[in-house]
Amino acid sequence: MTYIIAEPCIGVKDAACVEVCPVDCIYEGEDQYYIHPEECIDCGACEPECPVQAIFPDTDVPAEWTSFIEKNVTFFD
Ligand code: SF4
Ligand code: SF4
Repeated sequence: MTYIIAEPCIGVKDAACVEVCPVDCIYEGEDQYYIHPEECIDCGACEPECPVQAIFPDTDVPAEWTSFIEKNVTFFD
């Protein structure tokens, strides 16, 4: 399991999640931030910090944003 960042981050990118991640596994991309799926320890600390609720466990991503699971993984390929 990992946490992933979905569409609401695009255009916001305030990095509030980056501040609280204990393992520094949230990285800046051109359009949004991304969580490294192998470095994330699933602590959940980032989820409540996001002002636009863009962060979800990969098992609980809203249907319209499931493509962001793949997008988060692909960013690190
Ligand atoms: S769940 Fe924890 S380890 Fe994973 S990205 Fe969020 S703060 Fe970092
Ligand atoms: S806190 Fe939310 S909006 Fe801000 S960078 Fe992280 S995922 Fe994006």
